Amino acid sequence: MQNVLKVNDLFAFQTSELLKTKGIRLFNLIGSPGAGKTSLLELLIPLLKDKGARIAVIEGDCATARDAARIAALDVPVVQINTGNSCHLDASQVGKVLGDFSLDALDMVIIENVGNLVCPTGFDLGADEKIAIISVTEGDDKPLKYPRIFHEAKSVILTKTDLIPYTNFSLQRFTEALRSIRQDQELFLLSCTTGEGASPLIERFWP
Ligand code: MG
Ligand code: ZN
Repeated sequence: MQNVLKVNDLFAFQTSELLKTKGIRLFNLIGSPGAGKTSLLELLIPLLKDKGARIAVIEGDCATARDAARIAALDVPVVQINTGNSCHLDASQVGKVLGDFSLDALDMVIIENVGNLVCPTGFDLGADEKIAIISVTEGDDKPLKYPRIFHEAKSVILTKTDLIPYTNFSLQRFTEALRSIRQDQELFLLSCTTGEGASPLIERFWP
């Protein structure tokens, strides 16, 4: 396992160096299946494009190109990686598909990692940062149960906030859980259904 991670880190370093020279920011979006990762991209990408951001997306899923099709409909370059039985993307997979993009025509690449709160966190993809995404319906205790991603991600996006009145999710308990793991975290509240909370996120991705 240590050797696997060492090899991975080499690929991650290459990606990071390449994108630095091109002036491209790379985001690694990590969350459970159904957290709303693709919906978040469907909401944000048109708004970011309106601001002039040139974006490409890398989609990671075990199977199908369903999410890549949703992103392609937004008229941005997208590549789907199918990982089969593997529950995370690794840096060699990401490094390979970067060559499919016209890098000189991009400002940022967003990776939607395979839905999983655990091992995508352990595989560095050469991204500038990891962003955690978690939905109201997953429960307010998840930061305590899966602390590593909430420790590594400076930004946490809580989705499906329109559902809070219909669940026992406590925003206070959730915030306290996050703070117990990391003090300087930025928490974004978002409803992809109503669009509420999109503006601060746009600012975050494209200051
Ligand atoms: Mg998805
Ligand atoms: Zn995995």
